[in-house]
Amino acid sequence: MAFDYDLFVIGGGSGGVRAARVAAGEHGAKVALAEEDRYGGTCVIRGCVPKKLMVFASGYADIEAEAGAYGWDITLGDFNWARFKGKLHAELDRLEAIYRRLLANAGVETFDARATVKDAHTVTLSTGEEKTAKHILVAVGGHPTRPDMPNADAGIVSDDLFDLPELPKSLLIIGGGYIASEFAGVMNGLGVAVTQYYRGEQILRGFDNEARTLVAEQMVEKGIDLQLNTDIAEMEKRDGGVWTKSVAGHEAVFDQVLFATGRKPNTDGLGIEEAGAALGRGGEIVVDEYSQTGVPSIYAIGDVTNRVNLTPVAIREGMAFVQTVFVGNPTPVDHDLIPSAIFTQPEMGTVGLSEEDARAQEPIEVYATTFKPMQSSFAGKPDRVMMKLIVSQASRVVLGCHIVAPNAGEMIQLAGIAIKMGATKEDFDATVAVHPTMSEEIVTMKTPSRT
Ligand code: NDP
Repeated sequence: MAFDYDLFVIGGGSGGVRAARVAAGEHGAKVALAEEDRYGGTCVIRGCVPKKLMVFASGYADIEAEAGAYGWDITLGDFNWARFKGKLHAELDRLEAIYRRLLANAGVETFDARATVKDAHTVTLSTGEEKTAKHILVAVGGHPTRPDMPNADAGIVSDDLFDLPELPKSLLIIGGGYIASEFAGVMNGLGVAVTQYYRGEQILRGFDNEARTLVAEQMVEKGIDLQLNTDIAEMEKRDGGVWTKSVAGHEAVFDQVLFATGRKPNTDGLGIEEAGAALGRGGEIVVDEYSQTGVPSIYAIGDVTNRVNLTPVAIREGMAFVQTVFVGNPTPVDHDLIPSAIFTQPEMGTVGLSEEDARAQEPIEVYATTFKPMQSSFAGKPDRVMMKLIVSQASRVVLGCHIVAPNAGEMIQLAGIAIKMGATKEDFDATVAVHPTMSEEIVTMKTPSRT
C-alpha cells in the first residue's frame, strides 16, 4: 500500500521536531508534522526557555548589595515586568521561527492543525483532511494539572506565568516539585511576596535529602515563606484576589495562587487506545525501550510517555527512534545516569543516586562539604553551597553527585561525563583542583563524612 508519507509526527516540540527533521533531512524520508499550538512545544514556549530567562531576570535582585560590597555604587530601580515580558515574547517568537525554518529546510511538510490517530497508519487533521503514513510518531507532550477541588480554576498554572498582565504582589504556590520550587525563587527575586505550601515533609521529593534540605533552607533565608506539611483546602475568588484556607484552617488572601501540582500527558481524545495502543494509569502512552507502542507502526516519545520528562531525553528518544526505524539500527534509549538541574535559588545539579537510594542498594561512603562561597561571603551574604559524592565501598565507583551552588547545572553537566564513564573516587582524587573555584571541592574531599 502506498502511504502519503513515510512518517507523520504529531507534535512540534523538541522531540517531535528533532525526529522529523533528522528523518527527512538526513535520511531522505518523506515526513509531515502537525502542531496545533506553537512550534517549540513546552520547553521553548512555556517551559525551560522562558523559565530560565525569568531565573536570569530575578537574579539581578541581589546585585545592588553585592556590587556595593565590591566597591561599586549602583542603585537598582524597580523591575519592569512589561518591558521584560515584551523582550521575552520577542525571543520566543524568534525561537519559534527557527523551529519552523529547521523543519522547512529539512523538507518536512507542516500542518498548523490538531492531529489525532485514526488507525495504525492514518491521522485525522482538525481541518478534516486524513493523511496516511508508514509510521506515526506521537510527541504531543503534557500539560499542567490542577487538583480536583472546588474553584481550582481561580488558580493559575505554569503556562499562565509568562503572560501575566502584571506581576502579583503576593503569590501562593502549591506543590514542592521542580516547577513550584523554581518559581518560588523566580517570583521572590522579582519582588513578589511568595508563600509556598507543600504537603510533604520536604520539597523536591526523590532528590538527595541533604541537598534538598539545603535548598529549602536557603529559599527561606531569601524570604520565601515555605510551609511544609500543609496544603490548600478551600479557595475562592474575592475582591480581586484569591481567598484561601489551608488544611490547618489558616485563612489568607493572595493576589494569585499557582498550582504546580504536576503534569499529565496530552492523550485525551488522541485516539491512541482506539488505534489499539495502550495508555497507562496516568494517561501516558505505553512504549517499549525502542519507544514503540503495541501497534508496530505507532511510536511515542517525550513527556507523553512519562518516562523521564526532560527535553534532552525527548530529543534522545527522537534520535533513537530515527536510528531504529530509518537507519535499521535498533537503538534503545539509555535512561541511566541522566544529569539534571533544578533552577531553584540556589540551583541544584544532580546525577546518579541520592544518598538514601544508594544506601538502600549497597554499602557506601559519603563525601560531603558545605561552605560559604567566596564571592557572596565577601559581600557578607549568608549563602552556602554543597558538594557531595556518594561512593560504592565495593567498587569505588561514584554512584551519585549532588551540587547545590550558583551554576550547579553547569557543573553537573561536566561531572556527569565522568560519572557516566564509571569514574571511581580515586579518579576524582587524581584530578588536580581548579583554584580558586567552588567546584574544586569535588576533587579535594579526602575523608568520608560518613559511611
Ligand atoms: P512534580 O511532579 O515534580 O511535582 C508536583 C508537586 O505537586 C509535588 O510536590 C507533589 O507532591 C505536589 N502535588 C501533586 N498533587 C498535589 C495535590 N493534589 N495537592 C497538593 N500537592 C500536590 O511536577 P512539576 O509540575 O513540578 O513538574 C513536572 C515535570 O516537569 C517534572 O517532573 C520534570 O520532569 C519536569 N520539569 C523539569 C525541570 C528541570 O529539569 N529543571 C523544570 C520544570 C519541570 P508529592 O511530592 O507529595 O507528590
